[in-house]
Amino acid sequence: MFQAFLNGSRPYFKLIGGANFTDMRALRYLATVYTLAGADLIDVAALPEAVEAVRSGIRDARQVGASAAPVIMVSATFDDDPHCRLAVQDPGVCTGVCSPCRQACPHDAIDEALRVVVDRCVGCGLCVPACPYEAIALVQDPQAPDLEAVHRAGARALELHTGSGGLETLEAWREPVTSWVASGGLFALSVNPTQLAPEALHAVIETVKGWLGLSGWIVQADGKPISGEAGLRSTAPTVQLAAEILERHPGLAVQCAGGANSHTAWLARQRGVAIAGVGMGSVARAIISADATDHEALARDPGRALVDPVVVADVRAARGLVRAVHAPEEVHP
Ligand code: SF4
Ligand code: SF4
Repeated sequence: MFQAFLNGSRPYFKLIGGANFTDMRALRYLATVYTLAGADLIDVAALPEAVEAVRSGIRDARQVGASAAPVIMVSATFDDDPHCRLAVQDPGVCTGVCSPCRQACPHDAIDEALRVVVDRCVGCGLCVPACPYEAIALVQDPQAPDLEAVHRAGARALELHTGSGGLETLEAWREPVTSWVASGGLFALSVNPTQLAPEALHAVIETVKGWLGLSGWIVQADGKPISGEAGLRSTAPTVQLAAEILERHPGLAVQCAGGANSHTAWLARQRGVAIAGVGMGSVARAIISADATDHEALARDPGRALVDPVVVADVRAARGLVRAVHAPEEVHP
């Protein structure tokens, strides 16, 4: 079922909803738009509600003509992984009247009352240095996923973000991961070079190779996690890391993420790095212009995807990003 991801004729596109992003209406909308745009995978928080929101969005897209349904992936995190962070304001310090934090947040996760909206915060940390009173800190908010429940809800791929990659913590995942793969699921291991020194990073990969062998799973080279940057410079670390992983572990499938954007597949091709796919999170969400009202309207009437100017523009923008991965030589800016 997953051979197309592992050794397909072209790189796949993965939409990253965010391991901590739980605005379900927004997730449903993103799923509709990116299914219509041709995304291959949609990666969300490891919660049954998040998987169901994505399924609803995919169903809406299929109703209005999407030719294929993306595979739903869920992301689980080690306790110290940056993907499970949340911004928290200190009410004793926050003035509640200035707004640099709100202006700095690219995810619309600080509301008009200048409070962090927990279900939209992805833990990027951009609000922290923006606050002149040091009133915001990032805290870890790890979830213990119920893999049976997310599988029942429709997830068929599991991604594990290793944080600083403690081998003891990793060992605790051996049984869940091998069971997931044995029951036909796809597995991905996300490694982060900002937390793992090169030898530790390769040791984590070696450990999972010991569980699963070389084929049937993916390593995510998370070059610059949650950077949200669109430039060529931002994407170089993930392509470089993918090259290093492929050189050290030939035969593995490697996907780029963390600083990945419309340049990534093109840069990989230029450098002769045979990546399996590209995952985009902040960049993929930032090109969407719809608001909560649009999310609700589309969920009530999926037919709007074909006529509502906001949705049509969002699908067009998403299609451009997907195309930059599927056919980078055709559309590279
Ligand atoms: S910038 Fe800082 S002090 Fe001002 S509202 Fe935001 S968190 Fe509070
Ligand atoms: S800037 Fe980032 S960390 Fe801060 S509230 Fe927004 S999403 Fe959360």
